[in-house]
Amino acid sequence: MWDVEQIREAARGRWPEIHNRLGLASEFQRRKHGPCPFCGGCDRYRYDNRQGTGSFFCNGCGAGDGFTMAAKLLGLDSRTDFLKVVEAVAGLLGITASPVPVAVLPKQHHSEPPKVDSQARERLNTIWNNSIPLLRPEAEPVKKYFLNRGLDPILFDLPGGDVLRFQPELPYWHGGQEIGRFPALVGLVQAPNDIAVTLHRTYLSATGDKAPVPTAKKLMPPIFEGASRGAAIRLYQNGTQLGVTEGLETGLAVRIATGLPVWSTVSAGGMANLIVPKNIKKVLIFADLDKSRAGHNAADRLAARLLRQGVDARIIFPPGPIPAGSKGVDWLDILQQEDHAA
Ligand SMILES: [Zn+2]
Repeated sequence: MWDVEQIREAARGRWPEIHNRLGLASEFQRRKHGPCPFCGGCDRYRYDNRQGTGSFFCNGCGAGDGFTMAAKLLGLDSRTDFLKVVEAVAGLLGITASPVPVAVLPKQHHSEPPKVDSQARERLNTIWNNSIPLLRPEAEPVKKYFLNRGLDPILFDLPGGDVLRFQPELPYWHGGQEIGRFPALVGLVQAPNDIAVTLHRTYLSATGDKAPVPTAKKLMPPIFEGASRGAAIRLYQNGTQLGVTEGLETGLAVRIATGLPVWSTVSAGGMANLIVPKNIKKVLIFADLDKSRAGHNAADRLAARLLRQGVDARIIFPPGPIPAGSKGVDWLDILQQEDHAA
């Protein structure tokens, strides 16, 4: 979704500013030999910025272009995390990814093609295309929100801008009226055939709390009725294993604790109906422990279906008991308890 060459062109000549905003002090932006910002020494390093490409050279830890330097400053691997580096640079340049395929009709399998609600589609596209990656400095309310929930962004790799984005001023509608505009975390919900079908919104305050609205977390109407069946917010993916959670924040907690690729199904109903890709061999279901048993039942249904399909599925419950006065316990609660105990 990122046009790398477009971003490379846009960054040409602007690398010193980009690197500076990523934390490279101006003393390390000189053409003369000097100490390396990463591996020290006294004269092994030079920031030569050849033809405005942000290039640098170090006898100790190697040479590279502006993207390589940006990766080092972000603590990312310039090869395996290349797209994240590109995204961060694009964010600093004010470029957002090309539109997501919300507007694409799902593949027609059989019977009648589903009727896309063009108004719903338009609303989804407008919000998504006006939202920005979380790596952008403006996305501070989301970082504060994560921190308030015990999810320190230093401890995990923020999901990319193709999954989670920030919307600085999202209108909140209630009873047919707009009652205010709030910063919001926006998550892309993708159907089993990869098509983006709807958006999940978490309305926030500037200080990173939930916004003072009737329902701070909401799904938008999907592109057609039933389009969200089997869908999930694909927070992280790769490999043949998958961690599954209901909540988005629970998914991030599991990511911190296990490093697994994780998908959030948003709700218990979403978990019961989740469809995982054919290449997934093992699914770890990090279930919620609810008094209502909704989380338990949903995890059971998903596990049973996956096992029938030959997938190694396991349910992992958070340790109980459910505290008095609480509706349930999830893995984010457990992570928070451990933080407080530490
Ligand atoms: Zn070096």
